[in-house]
Amino acid sequence: MNVTSVNPYTQKKIKTYPALSAQSLDRKIKQADRAFTDWSALSLEERLAYFRKVAAYLRSEKQRYAELMTAEMGKTLKESAAEIEKCAVGCDYYLAHAPKFLADRAIETEAKKSFISYQPLGVVLAVMPWNFPFWQVFRFAIPSLLAGNVGLLKHAANVSGCSLAIEEIFRACDFPTGAFQSLLIESKTVETVLKDPRVKAVTLTGSERAGASVAGIAGSQIKKSVLELGGSDALIVLADADLEKAAEVAAQSRMQNAGQSCIAAKRFIVEKSVKKEFTERVLHHIQAIQQGDPTLETTTMGPVARIDLAETIERQCAETVRQGARILSGGNRAGCNVQPILLDKVKPGMTAFDEETFGPLAVVIEAKDEQDAVKLANQSNYGLGSALWTQDLDRADRLARQIQAGSVFVNSLMRSDARVPFGGVKLSGFGRELSEVGMKEFLNIKTVWIE
Ligand code: NAP
Repeated sequence: MNVTSVNPYTQKKIKTYPALSAQSLDRKIKQADRAFTDWSALSLEERLAYFRKVAAYLRSEKQRYAELMTAEMGKTLKESAAEIEKCAVGCDYYLAHAPKFLADRAIETEAKKSFISYQPLGVVLAVMPWNFPFWQVFRFAIPSLLAGNVGLLKHAANVSGCSLAIEEIFRACDFPTGAFQSLLIESKTVETVLKDPRVKAVTLTGSERAGASVAGIAGSQIKKSVLELGGSDALIVLADADLEKAAEVAAQSRMQNAGQSCIAAKRFIVEKSVKKEFTERVLHHIQAIQQGDPTLETTTMGPVARIDLAETIERQCAETVRQGARILSGGNRAGCNVQPILLDKVKPGMTAFDEETFGPLAVVIEAKDEQDAVKLANQSNYGLGSALWTQDLDRADRLARQIQAGSVFVNSLMRSDARVPFGGVKLSGFGRELSEVGMKEFLNIKTVWIE
């Protein structure tokens, strides 16, 4: 089957890519398996040198890759360029810290010598989504390959050009053949790849449906999986918060990348006494968004990535309004361009409270007090990256521990940052990416005991 990339803003076809044949797929897995032997035998210093090249190459080719990303999934050119830079910064981070993270760790016992040694597992399959087509891949690839694993990428069908471009980056930086390869395959073929004994583990970023399927297959093969799935995260605003800053960041968190971020603040939960003022301030920021052609410097929001995603947001908005919410702004749609929406009077049981909304749809939910706010935040099947706004930092420390999520950012934009672990609880998945913790997900943490 062929895969076609369509520009979501112009709705014009970009390119059609033929899917890999069964023979080509087998050849690529064989190449990956062979590459692992050589790649893992290199010293860390040698592997670091390859990633120094990757960081420089990403920076030198930033504009070209940013244009490709914008054409395939519609984020603004500015957002695309920032994403490429983020990948380069991710390289910088692991270049500086990998030697420390991967060094043997001595353990004091009665043995003459006992220590932990960190060893790569082999070929790791990465199944990735389209919303951050470069960053999602690099945040897996940098630590995993530096540690000695090799990678196979099954990217989302609508960003096949990005998938091939990422493979090209590793080739241009002279990585051994097979160290990182893109597989243009249908999602149903993931099962074949994962069941192949040469493939040792899988990481998936995407929907819970895809995650459940892939983790099920991995489990049946006793292979490690990491799942980075959806979110419906809360942004709690307490009465003592800096309301202007909270409103500005709330709008940014929800609306950046046209609302297509797993960790976007999807539910604004606001203490009753400040709800009116906060909502007015958010409305002001949302109405200032310049929607349009994502290649223009003046545009601050591009289209959503596919028509079906635009239709889903439209449905979720209409249902929530029918269920009693009030629309304060937005909601018109032209193709993939969904005018940013703000809904008020949203409550549990309504669609936009209960489901993940993956587009420019912000909702305001009233909380009686701080404990009611935490209860509403936790009233979700997901738990990825929440935010909390209060000027009382002792209170923030106490409440952050009560929120069911993989991360809680206080008085700040929730984001992924290479220095801190990233991942979720509940239906948002398991395992972590980034930081030292993420680097060790696909390693054999080997105990060596010498008497
Ligand atoms: P998706 O449909 O699950 O697709 C993600 C990837 O999985 C794509 O490569 C897709 O391939 C593949 N896939 C889909 N169904 C599969 C199956 N049954 N077996 C194997 N592979 C399968 O997700 P999406 O709608 O594109 O992405 C949005 C979702 O990802 C949201 O829920 C979002 O919150 C989540 N996400 C999570 C994180 C995180 O870090 N936690 C980050 C970003 C996004 P095809 O394109 O060929 O279908």
